[in-house]
Amino acid sequence: MSNEPGGIVGEFLSLKASTDADVLAMQCGDFYEFFADDAELVADELDLKVSQKSSHGSTYPMAGVPLSELTPYLKALVERGFRVAVAEQYETDDGHARRIERVVSPGTVVDPDGSAARYLAAVEEVDGAYGVAFAEVTTGRFRAAAVDSADDVRAELHRFAPVEILPGPGVREDDALLAAFRDDTDAHLTLHETEAFAPGRARHRLREQFGRETLDAVGLVADAAVAAAGAVLHYVDETGVGVLASMTRLGTLDPGGRVALDATTQRNLELTETMGGDRDGTLLDTLDHTETAAGSRLLREWVTRPRRDRAEIERRHDAVAAFASAALARDRLLDELDGAADLERLAARATSGSADPRDLAAVRDALGRLPRLASAIEGTELADSPVADVLARPDQSAARGLHDELDEALAADPPGTVTEGGILARGYDEELDELVAEYEEAERWLDTLADREKRQHGLSHVTVDRNTTDGYYIQVGRSVADGVPEHYREIKTLKNSKRFVTDELEDRERTVLRLEEARGDLEYELFRELRERVVEHAELLQDVGRTLAELDALASLAEHAATNDWVRPDLSDGGELVIEAGRHPVVERTTDFVPNDLRLDRDRGFLVVTGPNMSGKSTYMRQCALIVLLAQVGSFVPADAARVPLVDGVFTRVGALDELAQGRSTFMVEMQELSNILHSATEESLVILDEVGRGTATYDGISIAWAATEYLHNEVRAKTLFATHYHELTALAEHLPRVENVHVAAEERDGGVTFLRRVRDGPTDRSYGVHVADLAGVPGPVVDRAGDVLDRLRDEKAIEARGSAGGSDRGDGVTKQTVFDLGSGQFRGSASADGGGAKPLDPATESVLEELKGTDVNEVPPVELMATVQEWRERLEE
Ligand code: ADP
Repeated sequence: MSNEPGGIVGEFLSLKASTDADVLAMQCGDFYEFFADDAELVADELDLKVSQKSSHGSTYPMAGVPLSELTPYLKALVERGFRVAVAEQYETDDGHARRIERVVSPGTVVDPDGSAARYLAAVEEVDGAYGVAFAEVTTGRFRAAAVDSADDVRAELHRFAPVEILPGPGVREDDALLAAFRDDTDAHLTLHETEAFAPGRARHRLREQFGRETLDAVGLVADAAVAAAGAVLHYVDETGVGVLASMTRLGTLDPGGRVALDATTQRNLELTETMGGDRDGTLLDTLDHTETAAGSRLLREWVTRPRRDRAEIERRHDAVAAFASAALARDRLLDELDGAADLERLAARATSGSADPRDLAAVRDALGRLPRLASAIEGTELADSPVADVLARPDQSAARGLHDELDEALAADPPGTVTEGGILARGYDEELDELVAEYEEAERWLDTLADREKRQHGLSHVTVDRNTTDGYYIQVGRSVADGVPEHYREIKTLKNSKRFVTDELEDRERTVLRLEEARGDLEYELFRELRERVVEHAELLQDVGRTLAELDALASLAEHAATNDWVRPDLSDGGELVIEAGRHPVVERTTDFVPNDLRLDRDRGFLVVTGPNMSGKSTYMRQCALIVLLAQVGSFVPADAARVPLVDGVFTRVGALDELAQGRSTFMVEMQELSNILHSATEESLVILDEVGRGTATYDGISIAWAATEYLHNEVRAKTLFATHYHELTALAEHLPRVENVHVAAEERDGGVTFLRRVRDGPTDRSYGVHVADLAGVPGPVVDRAGDVLDRLRDEKAIEARGSAGGSDRGDGVTKQTVFDLGSGQFRGSASADGGGAKPLDPATESVLEELKGTDVNEVPPVELMATVQEWRERLEE
């Protein structure tokens, strides 16, 4: 005997088995029901009540929601990371059946709550090459590209912050990358069918969607990229959200040259998310004064995707400059943008068939803003700036045409539903007007019936009303009910009254019902035609939406620049980076900020930044990086003046200590990040190193930091700021021509430390660690003892090889330090080729020194160098 459940539960379970969705909602009459495990799950997640359903001798948990209330439950489930299949009921010859019409997943919710972008991503790897694709079903945006490495994949994921990722079959093998997806994003990972990633099929699908030539035109040719893009399209199609038609344009990731900004750097610089994971206190949060959701989304895109093409950057600078100086026009323009609908999203809603009359009215109002925006800038400085070009970009006459059409068709303030009537304007459709007139006439007759009956039949206490069971009726008070005329037919007796109908009333009722239905049908029909007109203009809406967003983003940058005394940066040709009185864009908002200068050029390309803990080293380095980035975003910058080169990338690595606090860093991670920088940075990059080598023993750490500095200086030649607590590294300035020391000054006063926050040339002269411990309230005896120990260590130089020649003078009276002598490749001061009067060496040391001598640090790759240093160390310890 089979234990398979039959009936409705059986149908549910077999539908569930046919989908890979996590949960199934199945329509049963007026409800969507969840059975068995799914019932338990939704009950847990959404606080629904579970009842028991008997079916063929077994009972199953069951939970349900009314048809009209599914949407919020769906969204709530999807928010929690579930993919929900929705099965609809349909009529068949012998009753009804059900089939899955759509699957709702985090990346395919068409009308999400909130205005943030919701990207659906796919990632595929084919023969070591990667491809990524990002689609946003709420706006119809679609972008895809080949990227060089898994790190680039992660950088893009950090930028787009997708809510759902489809890893392709090539990526599913890569546990490390999958783990990174989980760590770097909050996205739901969906294993979409493998065949969708097959490059052949994917290419075909893309051509069908975007046209044959487009793939070549945008350079989307590599298999991995094609596979990812094709899979996204397939997924959007499969899930049945009905927005495929709004994806009309295939975009790439970086037209005009990319600025490398890996995920680590985006996080370290807190562009869109703080190290602690908040939005408050990020660069984006600080800059964002936009009026519209689309403007805010665009600004985010700009901030995470600085440009390298001078023309585009200068266009934005020009626009920001114009906006910044034309305060009145800017305010007017922002007023006109205030409350503008999200056109890109409305276009997608229209395409998916979910746009309601109010949405179309929002389209009308947004289109109607174009001429008002134009008049807001007329005769102002903005008229001669790129702002005018942005405004002129969409097809004006098409926009006017669609606006006028909607304006003529729609009621001034239509309802949010298609069933209530009142969607369309009088005079739009003659037939509808007639129906409405007749209907209103019938209503008038009904409204005045009670008065007429009172008058004609001398009755008091008469009302005329309608409900679902009785239809229209005449209600007469009990006391006078006996006096009603003959032709009244009683239908109900209530406590204080009786209800009657008449033939005439029934006749009118039929008319009203007929008119209601005819009017509703016609109005819906006309509304759908109108919505189709909007769908036909989806691209226009995307264009206008884009224009409004861009004006908003530019005005927002200008607003911030004007109110915070930011200046327009010059783009330098010679590669020099000069900042006068620069500030940190976020910290300056909450602190009495001390501005600082920066100068990097051909002769001075690498700064070793020293200074006590908490003196401001990180802040200084980050502000410099942010100023460079802001300039390339097209923004003004927080400084009195700035000359900024167009960098090809910003690379950062932040100290083990900061990261350890976040429970994230290990020495391995630190080295991986360093390795990535040494491999990826170029002469045109900006590198920020905030402590290197802290996660290991002192000698290891210094060696690695030292070797990395040499490599960056000699080979990579990137502009670099390197904060370190290894005082030893300040000696590098004497050996490497482009290395200079700067320090963040602090003063010792009355046994305490005063931070001056001033960056000055030269190395700092001592460590203030013990004083910071004191400031932090470490008990007095500990602080005193630490001071003693420090003095002793200084005398004995326990952690430094004792020597007498070369090195730097620390200026605090302590004897000279032993450092690598780059010229000879030896430890200066030890008993090596240059003598120095030290004691004889044991054979192990000798052999290590020999090898060291034979090692060309410029030739050996850094990672290998590290391993070698480690091995030397071990031999020396033995
Ligand atoms: P470090 O990297 O040297 O340990 P930080 O850069 O983290 O120091 O700065 C320590 C504190 O000093 C931070 O709270 C920061 O807000 C503040 N600070 C840093 N630079 C400045 C400055 N130029 N003006 C005012 N406050 C600053």
